[in-house]
Amino acid sequence: MDLFEKCWQYTAAKEVQAAGLYPYFIPLTDSEGTEVTIGDHRLIMIGSNNYLGLTTHPRVRQAAIKATQRYGTGCTGSRFLNGTLELHLELERRLAEFVGTEAALVFSTGYQTNLGTISALVGRSDFVVTDKDDHASIVDGCRLAFGEMRRFRHNDMAHLERVLAGLPEEVGKLVVVDGVFSMGGDIAPLPEIVPLCQKYGARLMVDDAHAMGVVGGGRGTAAHFGLTDQVDLTMGTFSKSFASLGGFIAGAEDVIHYIQHNARSLIFSASMPPANAAAVLAALEVMQEEPERIARVNQIGRRMGAGFRRLGFNVGASETPIIPVIIGDDMHTFIAWKALYEAGIYTNPVVSPAVPPGSALLRTSYMATHTDEQLGRVLATFAEVGQALGLVG
Ligand code: PMP
Repeated sequence: MDLFEKCWQYTAAKEVQAAGLYPYFIPLTDSEGTEVTIGDHRLIMIGSNNYLGLTTHPRVRQAAIKATQRYGTGCTGSRFLNGTLELHLELERRLAEFVGTEAALVFSTGYQTNLGTISALVGRSDFVVTDKDDHASIVDGCRLAFGEMRRFRHNDMAHLERVLAGLPEEVGKLVVVDGVFSMGGDIAPLPEIVPLCQKYGARLMVDDAHAMGVVGGGRGTAAHFGLTDQVDLTMGTFSKSFASLGGFIAGAEDVIHYIQHNARSLIFSASMPPANAAAVLAALEVMQEEPERIARVNQIGRRMGAGFRRLGFNVGASETPIIPVIIGDDMHTFIAWKALYEAGIYTNPVVSPAVPPGSALLRTSYMATHTDEQLGRVLATFAEVGQALGLVG
């Protein structure tokens, strides 16, 4: 059998393309944040993770430009060797202070942060326990780790306890959850997870990719629940509220030191470019100086969640500015996506395997910079499309 046989047999995307419903890899011509253009078609963007709207903030933009002028466009080496600038260390200090931990370590992407951290910590005789809805980068970190992986049903604390109780007592254990779940927009119940970890001697890591800048006054899920001292490791990414690209892990000094010397995705990959690091530093400042942005994005989340529910859409258990509109069937989801797209609303269709079969959804997410008028138009368009397609009564 030819290795490429699977490529020639791969028709899933082509079928959707043939139906004129293919929604992926569409290049944007221009982006102003809350609105984008594709060719000359203008759309309201409700598919971005730019929660605080900082990608176009003048201070963040200027910081990236100044860093490029000062340091050049890339670091051309690993953090381990020539790729560490004072800028990276300053960012690590500021992030540790922001999250409330002793130390932090910056990686080139959020994906690499999960990959490197989990695979460095979960050794041969250890176990890692994850929520079934955890992000793919957590799953991939577990696959790369030498230890064994166990999963529990989404936010099901009784199941988590059964899984933990079934592990050998004397082995190392790491529980990893998304703080804010990337598709459902619901929050991990840390007040229940923390005591379970303590009872069974497990360490806890929270992926706050979607929580930073949004919950806990922007400081994440542990802060949201007043549990900053009870979470062992907090992971964050810069590709969302921080308006850049990169990621970090924050925790106790000795643990971060160990990860720094053992995370292969850190050691064997080049470091974050100066512009990216400087943009995060500026975004962090703006975030702290303008807390009204955090309040606004949450207010928008509540308004849109209530608005969709009132229209009769199923938005699951969302408690944040990530609001999934659950359609169910993959093809119906593509059809709804296309109708909204043509009516000037940009959403992200999410189908299996990213969500379980039969749970396909349009992922909507909001920015502090969306105007009330834009949000009104989004709801009115969803109402029209929902009725035309028979999705709501
Ligand atoms: N964790 C979660 C929960 C995410 O949603 C993402 C990105 N979608 C990542 C990690 C990876 O982050 P990045 O895009 O910065 O690699």
